Amino acid sequence: MYDVAVIGAGASGLMAARQALQNGHSVIILEMGENPGRKINVSGGGHCNITNTAATYDRYFGENPQFVRGALSRFKPADMLDWAIRHNIALYQKTPGRYFCKTSASDVVKSLLSDVTGANILYNTTVLNVSKNADGYFSIDTNNGLYYAQSVIVATGGISYPVLGVTDVGYKIAKHFGHKIIPVRPALCAICINNNPFLEFSGISIPVIIKIGKNTVCDDLLFTHMGIGGPAAYRASLYDISNGLYIDMLPNANIFELFVTAKKNNGRKQISNILSEYLPSRIAKYIAGNDSRNIADIKDSELKQIAEKIHNYYLPGNTLKYHNMSAAEVTYGGVSTDEISSKTMESKLCSGLYFVGEVLDITGDLGGFNLHWAWASGFVAGNNI
Ligand SMILES: Cc1cc2nc3c(=O)[nH]c(=O)nc-3n(C[C@H](O)[C@H](O)[C@H](O)COP(=O)(O)OP(=O)(O)OC[C@H]3O[C@@H](n4cnc5c(N)ncnc54)[C@H](O)[C@@H]3O)c2cc1C
Repeated sequence: MYDVAVIGAGASGLMAARQALQNGHSVIILEMGENPGRKINVSGGGHCNITNTAATYDRYFGENPQFVRGALSRFKPADMLDWAIRHNIALYQKTPGRYFCKTSASDVVKSLLSDVTGANILYNTTVLNVSKNADGYFSIDTNNGLYYAQSVIVATGGISYPVLGVTDVGYKIAKHFGHKIIPVRPALCAICINNNPFLEFSGISIPVIIKIGKNTVCDDLLFTHMGIGGPAAYRASLYDISNGLYIDMLPNANIFELFVTAKKNNGRKQISNILSEYLPSRIAKYIAGNDSRNIADIKDSELKQIAEKIHNYYLPGNTLKYHNMSAAEVTYGGVSTDEISSKTMESKLCSGLYFVGEVLDITGDLGGFNLHWAWASGFVAGNNI
C-alpha cells in the first residue's frame, strides 16, 4: 500500500511524484516503458524546449483554456528556470522567453529522476485499469499484478506519437469514474491538402500569416509534398480548419502597391520577375503561371486578383485534413476539465484521483507551453495530496 501511485513516468508524472515525495508521501511510479521521459527526450529536437515565459492561459486550447490559470499561477516559468539552475542544466533562449537545453534533453530526465530517488519506479509495468475499493483506497491492475494506493495520479499523456509507446488508459480510467472525454485528434502537426496545389514548391519555407476564422498565426510555413508543415502549419492545426484557411505568403509587403510602382517605373518587366524579387522563384512562377506579358499591359483589376492569390490564398476546408497521430506532437482533447479542480487537479467525482499533463483536455501552443503545462499540473497535484 502506497500513499501515492503515479501512472506514467513522463514530464507530468515525474514532477507530481517529486512533489508528493517532498511532502513526505510514499510513492510508486508505474511506467509501461523501459525508461522514463521518452517524450521529454525527443522534445525540441532533442534539446527540450522546457518552458516559455509567455505561458499564460491565452496560449492554451481546449474547451476551457482558463482552467490552466490555477496551476500556472502556482508553478510559473520562472520556477522551472530555477529548477533547471539548481540542477546545473544550461539553457539558452532560441527566441526571447523560449528556453531550450544547451546540451541534451536527457539532462532534464536525469535531473527529474534524481528528484524522485525515494520513489519505487517500476518499468515495463502497464496499467490496465484502476478501481476504488469500499475502504477508500485504489487498486491498480497492471500486467505485473495489482498495486494499492490511497491516491492515484493519472499522468499517462496523450495518444499522439505512438512510436514512443502510448495508451488510452488515462481516458478509460476517467470514463470509469464518470468523467467526460472531449474527442481527441492530432494537433501540432502538418496539414494535408487534397490535390496539393503546392506540390511544385515542396521543400520551400517562407514566413507567412495564416488566417483561420478570426484567428491568425504568424510564423514560418514549410510547403511539403502532402500539404503544409513547419511552425505556421503546426500552430494552425490547433484550430478548427473545417472552414478552410487563408495564407498570406508575403505578410510584410503590399504586392499590389509594388505592382503599381513597377508599372510606372519598370513597365516592361514581367510579373514572374517582379514576384521573384520578393518570393522564392518557384512560388513566383506558380503564381504568375504562363503569363509573359509586360506588367504595363496588365489591367489593375487583374493585378489585384494576382495580389489576392499572394495575400489571401484560400484553401477550402473540405480539402484539408490534420496529419495523423503518428506525426503529431500532441493530442487535442482528452479528459474534460469540467470535473477536475483547477487548483489541485483532483477529480470532483472521485476523491484521491488526479489527472495531470496531456491526458487532460488542455493543449499548449508550440514553444514550450505543453511541457510547462505538464510541469505545472504535475506540481500542483503532487503538492495537494
Ligand atoms: C516529437 C515531439 C516533440 C515535442 N517537443 C516539445 C517541446 O519542445 N516543448 C514542449 O513543451 N512540448 C513538446 N512536446 C509535447 C510534450 O512532450 C508533451 O506534451 C509532454 O511530454 C506531455 O507530458 P505528459 O507527462 O502529460 O505525458 P508523457 O510525457 O507522454 O508521459 C506519459 C507517460 O505515461 C506512460 N504510460 C502511458 N500509458 C501507460 C500505461 N497504461 N501504464 C503505464 N504507463 C503508461 C508513457 O509510457 C509515458 O512515459 C513534444 C512532443 C513530441 C511528440
